[in-house]
Amino acid sequence: MTDICAMNIETIEDAEPRSVWQAIRRGFGQRCPSCGEAGLYRAYVKVRDDCPSCGAALHHHRADDMPPYLTILLVGHILIPLVLMTEQAWHPETWVHWAVWIPSLVLSSLWLLPRLKGAVIGLQWANRMHGFGGEEDQPVEP
Ligand SMILES: [Zn+2]
Repeated sequence: MTDICAMNIETIEDAEPRSVWQAIRRGFGQRCPSCGEAGLYRAYVKVRDDCPSCGAALHHHRADDMPPYLTILLVGHILIPLVLMTEQAWHPETWVHWAVWIPSLVLSSLWLLPRLKGAVIGLQWANRMHGFGGEEDQPVEP
């Protein structure tokens, strides 16, 4: 058991280093975190199994709930203060709030979600998490 663990650590240490910020930046740009050439998605937030440019396996990602969490966190912390400042400054009618803020909320969330998911996948790829280091991810025991 310890031999297998020691072998995995040696394999990871011997592998070429991956730039975390470059991978996050490429992922945020919805590009492959490995090469930055091909698109990360085959649909809106459906990640390709492999990169068509460099062949890097992308199906290992486990972004799960992190991108929606980050999207809600950022959009909420940006838009809610704007709503409150608008109300304090101009006291617009309620329908104006609805007409401005609901589309802003929806569009900014739809814009941000694939970018944040790409950034999370880039982070996982750079840190060789969930099979991105060449080892298969171990199933979680209940
Ligand atoms: Zn690639």
